[in-house]
Amino acid sequence: MKIGVPRGMYFYKYYPFTKAFLTELGAEVVPSPQTNKEILDMGSRYCIDDACLPVKVYHGHAHYLKDKVDHMLLPRLTSVVPKEYICPKFGGLPEMVKYSIAELPHIIDVEIDLYKSKSNLIKSLYEAGKMFTNNPYRIKRAADKAVREHNLYQTSLLKGNLPEKYMGEADIPISHNGPLIGIATHPYLLYDGFINMKLLEKLSNKGIKFLLPEMLEKKVIEEKCGMLEKRMFWSSGKDFIGSALYMMDNNKIDGILILTSFGCGIDSLSIDYIERLRKKTYKKPFMVITLDEHTGDANFNTRLEAFLDLIDRRKRL
Ligand code: SF4
Repeated sequence: MKIGVPRGMYFYKYYPFTKAFLTELGAEVVPSPQTNKEILDMGSRYCIDDACLPVKVYHGHAHYLKDKVDHMLLPRLTSVVPKEYICPKFGGLPEMVKYSIAELPHIIDVEIDLYKSKSNLIKSLYEAGKMFTNNPYRIKRAADKAVREHNLYQTSLLKGNLPEKYMGEADIPISHNGPLIGIATHPYLLYDGFINMKLLEKLSNKGIKFLLPEMLEKKVIEEKCGMLEKRMFWSSGKDFIGSALYMMDNNKIDGILILTSFGCGIDSLSIDYIERLRKKTYKKPFMVITLDEHTGDANFNTRLEAFLDLIDRRKRL
């Protein structure tokens, strides 16, 4: 049984978990490839116009997989942290895809909603596992394996590795010398080399080190978000703001790059808050780059060069 997993949204957060769980239950897991022009074009064509870029890209990946698999996993990720929601787009994603793309295979749209209780995850895994077996012990074994894989993956990211290294895909050699920049963003922008114009590769080729949100312990993000006047209940915004605040405070970081996507409401509020705080308190080089559906990288490169020049000049001074 082939199960397709679109390479978008929280793919780079949960793919090792998903793969371990489904493989243990006997499925053949088929991820879509890295985003390319055709996938992006299909996403823009089938998704509603005013969606954010990552949602459009996700549609493109679902479209790519639709004739190649028996089932497609489009989980409804309502909440992955107790008392927090991710972002409203995640909750509605299965419906958006189902009503936008015709002739999809059977969709596995099990809901993960930890808002009220952590035990919801167990319930959802049993619900998904029942597609393969009625033996609850087999499902439990697959779930345990998935959790182990997830923990190993998180440890690998915390150590500074990129997802590709853990997943056994073509990895980017990371620079260990040169200036250090912090990149505050979301995993679906950071690890999608097509929509971010190969940002990590470009930095590495220039001998620049980077610190990414996934390299920070969860408690660091929590501590930084504790400074906010109101509790942030959107997990995606919390990771974004928490990592940006940490990067501003850390003296080893020479500059901060904020990577956001066109059409993101949560980021527009978060960036406004970060910018106001930066102007008042911090003086580090700082740049916001907004990604959209354009695939030419001339404008992106010019802005990146300007940011790196600024860091270089400050370091020399
Ligand atoms: S946080 Fe922003 S970019 Fe991410 S899914 Fe929500 S709206 Fe889109």
